[in-house]
Amino acid sequence: MQVSGKALVCDSIDQAGINSLSAAGMKVDYMPDITSDELVSRVKDYQVIIVRSRTKITKEVIDAATNAKIIARVGVGLDNIDQDAAQTRNIRVINAAEAAINAVSELAIGHMISLARSIPYADSETKKGHWVKNNLSGVELKGKYLGVVGVGNIGRNVARIARALRMNLIGYDLYPINRDFVKEVGLIITDLDTLVESADFITCHVPLTQETRHMFNAERFSKMKKTAFIINTSRGQIIDENALYGALIERKIAGAALDVFEIEPPTNRMLIELPNVICTPHIGSQTREAQQLASTVIAEKLIQALAGYEN
Ligand code: NAD
Repeated sequence: MQVSGKALVCDSIDQAGINSLSAAGMKVDYMPDITSDELVSRVKDYQVIIVRSRTKITKEVIDAATNAKIIARVGVGLDNIDQDAAQTRNIRVINAAEAAINAVSELAIGHMISLARSIPYADSETKKGHWVKNNLSGVELKGKYLGVVGVGNIGRNVARIARALRMNLIGYDLYPINRDFVKEVGLIITDLDTLVESADFITCHVPLTQETRHMFNAERFSKMKKTAFIINTSRGQIIDENALYGALIERKIAGAALDVFEIEPPTNRMLIELPNVICTPHIGSQTREAQQLASTVIAEKLIQALAGYEN
């Protein structure tokens, strides 16, 4: 299928998608370090704007994008795009929601095991020459209750992997959860507070919305088991970081693993430097496989959509 027009790639993406777009006839300008001022001044020349999470597509950018037809997000969350402004201008917003499912799920499971066995601490102490064996009595995942908050694409995949680790599953979602899936993994569906009170591990997989912002606040942390851990690979603002810090300091919960932060890179050093907090720099979808898939999925969706405009 052949299409025409110009695409501006504003963040680093896998080459595979760029090759597909070029092969289909698009002129692709790759500017992964473009600043917001440069973007505003150049964007009028493009029919397609492609971003990951670094570039913010604000109303100002959209107002300047007088020829834009499509904004493509190579990834899942759309919170870096002003969707209302795009809709007002009749600009389509597309993403590659499927591509990151496995990568994020495996990171969430990795964080859970790291918390249970203090792997980052054990590693850094051993390398410093400190034999901390006697301080490191962990817990097992087998038989523990994993609370999945947001039983969507990633939440379901995490649940499947956790089931294979012989964990028990509790789930909370705003919408009804597919019955076949519930049966498959033996999910117990509850309200959020029951989940919070019952889980040994909580893993967050909701989008950032008005309702989910600070979903985990001081009150929720005070309901968790003292031995429980929380893992967040969704969006930083789901957790009130000051409340999390308080809960950890007062030993209301056992630990936290965070791939995402209220401000990125994180400025809350008191929180991230706690020994029972494990951090990664928003790498949930950063696997070779997920990036390749996201880039090719977006290229295919773009070519289909542009062909639709041209016919
Ligand atoms: P999804 O849309 O498939 O699932 C989200 C689920 O959350 C849905 O089932 C939805 O019904 C539920 N939900 C929405 N609002 C809710 C609420 N108020 N209470 C309870 N449930 C609610 O999305 P997904 O692909 O599974 O992604 C989940 C999260 O992971 C998103 O926040 C996304 O931004 C994030 N993510 C992070 C990374 C990373 O790099 N760390 C990568 C990809 C996705």
